[in-house]
Amino acid sequence: MKYVSTRNQSVRLRASQAIAQGLARDGGLLTPEVFPKLTPALLEDLRGKTYGQRAVAVMKLFLEDFSEEELTAFTQAGYSGEKFDDARVAPLEPLTEDTYCLELWHGPTSAFKDMALQILPHLLSASLVKNQEDKTVCILVATSGDTGKAALEGFKDVDRTKILVFYPKDGVSAVQALQMQTQQGNNVGVCAVHGNFDDAQTGVKTLFSDEKLREDLARRGYFLSSANSINWGRILPQLVYYISAYCDLLNLGKITMGEKVNYCVPTGNFGNILACWYAGQMGLPVGKLICASNSNNVLTDFLATGTYDKNRPFHTTMSPSMDILVSSNLERLLFALSGQNDQEVAGYMKQLGEKGCYTVSEEIKAKLQADFYGGFCDEAKTSAIIAQVWKEHHYLIDPHTAVAYGVMQDYREATGDDRKTVFVSTASPFKFCDSVLHSLGVAQVREGLGALDQLAEVSGRPAPVPLASLRDKAVRFEESVDKEKMMDVVLDMLR
Ligand SMILES: *Cc1c(COP(=O)(O)O)cnc(C)c1O
Repeated sequence: MKYVSTRNQSVRLRASQAIAQGLARDGGLLTPEVFPKLTPALLEDLRGKTYGQRAVAVMKLFLEDFSEEELTAFTQAGYSGEKFDDARVAPLEPLTEDTYCLELWHGPTSAFKDMALQILPHLLSASLVKNQEDKTVCILVATSGDTGKAALEGFKDVDRTKILVFYPKDGVSAVQALQMQTQQGNNVGVCAVHGNFDDAQTGVKTLFSDEKLREDLARRGYFLSSANSINWGRILPQLVYYISAYCDLLNLGKITMGEKVNYCVPTGNFGNILACWYAGQMGLPVGKLICASNSNNVLTDFLATGTYDKNRPFHTTMSPSMDILVSSNLERLLFALSGQNDQEVAGYMKQLGEKGCYTVSEEIKAKLQADFYGGFCDEAKTSAIIAQVWKEHHYLIDPHTAVAYGVMQDYREATGDDRKTVFVSTASPFKFCDSVLHSLGVAQVREGLGALDQLAEVSGRPAPVPLASLRDKAVRFEESVDKEKMMDVVLDMLR
């Protein structure tokens, strides 16, 4: 199986090349040219396996130049009991007979990014060896909060890698900032950027496309790669939990083989929900895919009208990992829905670059609307949902998850669709204590990490250990720069 660029079909790479490279040279996203089939027999087989074994079985279908032994070693290391505080890795929590929460935050950084970023460093390290690359890779990350920390944890002290993370100074929660500022490891760097996430992301994209920087770093023995969800090694491990959740529903006797299940995903860069759509393409019985946004509802409008328009106010919300106006992974969906028409996709992306908007063909729009439903929650509603779910189910959710729950509820009301639905929980509520406590009506929220204890008291549940232990860690990284100075930070680190 080959990987092609969404903007140029004649670029054809092996899996390990696609992972080592991250982004295609033409700016397109490297994407499998075909999707292997997930037959009922294979699903039946996966039912009896552990999460790690399911991950190996699914990933090996896409990674022809990796052995089963390698993949087993990667999943054993990445999803070990030392890293994850639940042996099921991605447990499914029933709220009612029809509604299930897929908890993706049991990893070391308490957000779903761990699901992929505990595996990607292993895939990347092995990909370098397979491609006889002798330079050291430097991972550059722009983060809206969760990716940065998860990437730092995944890559710390991994051989022949360095990692440098840029985050928007005022766009992440206090806990998120502290998680990054206290990061340990000898190959890591962290820097705040003045501006919002799009500023940080645009800055990183500019660094990637700078030929002179590329040559300069090559002389120093480095090359740049990405751990953002444009890397195929980020998307692939995410297919697994949608399939795994379906197996769990079968094992619980809640569905019969072949019965369709709706999935509702809180969405930012469109990586997580795309993984679910891909699982559906493979044959997983996916019903409606519900795409949930916060006040930055560019995707809601896109799914309703077929016009993607990022020319709109940017809102800083309590679900910062979804404060995104350019959802990079949408490009992969357009590539698939256009019948892999690279020229059509390149055209849309050119318009996005030049005017900040494009309108897809009627054909693509019809396909989009057949598979997806888009909706959003504003800030007041997100808060109200956190309180409602706590009151009705005694179940605590973070603001990102609340956005998903709210849109799922709207969808059911609007359509009467009563299929079983899995909504995806992407972060632990403890990662966003302030917002959660305010939503629960607590008037006096304690400063800094005091809010962790307070949420533990209010909810009667302990804070995750990696968050609780932040108070014993020293701050190592306090630098903040203007977007124009990001290159200096890179050159400084890779001396
Ligand atoms: C990254 C993130 C999202 C958005 O996921 P995408 O793959 O970018 O759509 C949602 N919630 C949380 C907590 C996240 O960290």
